[in-house]
Amino acid sequence: MAQMNKQVLLARRPQGWVGEGNFNIVETPIPAPKEGEFLVRNLYLSLDPYMRARMNDTKSYVAPVAIGGVMAGETVGEVVESKHPAFKPGDTVTAYTGWQLYGISDGQRVRKVDPKLVPPSYYLGVVGMPGVTAWVGLLDIGQPKPGETVVVAAASGAVGGVVGQLAKMKGCRAVGIAGGKAKCDYVVQALGFDACVDHRAGDFYDRLSAATPKGIDVYFENVGGKILDDVLRRVNPFARIPLCGLISQYNATEPYGVKNIAALLFNRVTLRGFIVSDHLDRWPTALAELAQGVAQGTIQYRETVTEGLENAPRAFIGLLKGENFGKQVVKLD
Ligand code: NDP
Repeated sequence: MAQMNKQVLLARRPQGWVGEGNFNIVETPIPAPKEGEFLVRNLYLSLDPYMRARMNDTKSYVAPVAIGGVMAGETVGEVVESKHPAFKPGDTVTAYTGWQLYGISDGQRVRKVDPKLVPPSYYLGVVGMPGVTAWVGLLDIGQPKPGETVVVAAASGAVGGVVGQLAKMKGCRAVGIAGGKAKCDYVVQALGFDACVDHRAGDFYDRLSAATPKGIDVYFENVGGKILDDVLRRVNPFARIPLCGLISQYNATEPYGVKNIAALLFNRVTLRGFIVSDHLDRWPTALAELAQGVAQGTIQYRETVTEGLENAPRAFIGLLKGENFGKQVVKLD
């Protein structure tokens, strides 16, 4: 066991784009668990777009990280000391212990996981929160039907990659939107989407139209901005839009003004924002199906693994710019 804990703290709130100066890396003593708590040695830290919102002091569904507080986040790790009746040393768990090497948990929002079934980091991605987000958002809210066209942005990422594969399993045409040729090739060739439109190349709307000849029935929204406006021009009557994320807006100082909002009215579209933690009753079913899909090879998955906690801020900034390719995690060993 290391002698000291290492933590990434929120040093100051970003105005616009987040930079490495917004973080502070410190060494502190390893905490000792009290009665009803246990100590986790973290193996992997998940980096997720929602963390950018938690750096702001604005009204949201969760409280912001305090200045000087440990950056919030989910980890997978090993219990090394326990004063909690349900957890013992050697257990592998996911927990919201934050951006640090060691964390204390009281057992709330903790999952015991089996590191032999899938690699431990997968519990932060495809068999974890992002996978369930894709499952709930597409199946419960998007309600895709065979023969329909499902479009998802950030299609090579943790959520989007699963959305398209689930859409294919439902008998839909799956169309991804991703940044760059390498990501688009991966989305089609490895994930089995029918088409992928590169949002960084020109003529985006024309190429989106060519990829969606029968219009769009389900748009799984991850990015917002101009992409949403172009998609709205392609939606079919009674389309569904699960509004999952708006990553293009997270660092914006001026919000993008959506222009084609009338398409929602004229096409009687259902647009519904959702937060995956509101759907806890669906997690067991979703996780069981996702784990089975990964174990059987029917769901493909890819990660970007950054080494070392001290590199987490740079990796997080890269995630917000699209530098990750698949689920972004940080290896902490
Ligand atoms: P990803 O692994 O997909 O990584 C983020 C990706 O977003 C980047 O790689 C980049 O891909 C894309 N991106 C970044 N900026 C832009 C931009 N300006 N325009 C278009 N694409 C952009 O992240 P996740 O899969 O973890 O998350 C995807 C979305 O889901 C996020 O918006 C997140 O906030 C949301 N989410 C919501 C949850 C909920 O409960 N509602 C839960 C989990 C996630 P590319 O290079 O292809 O552009």
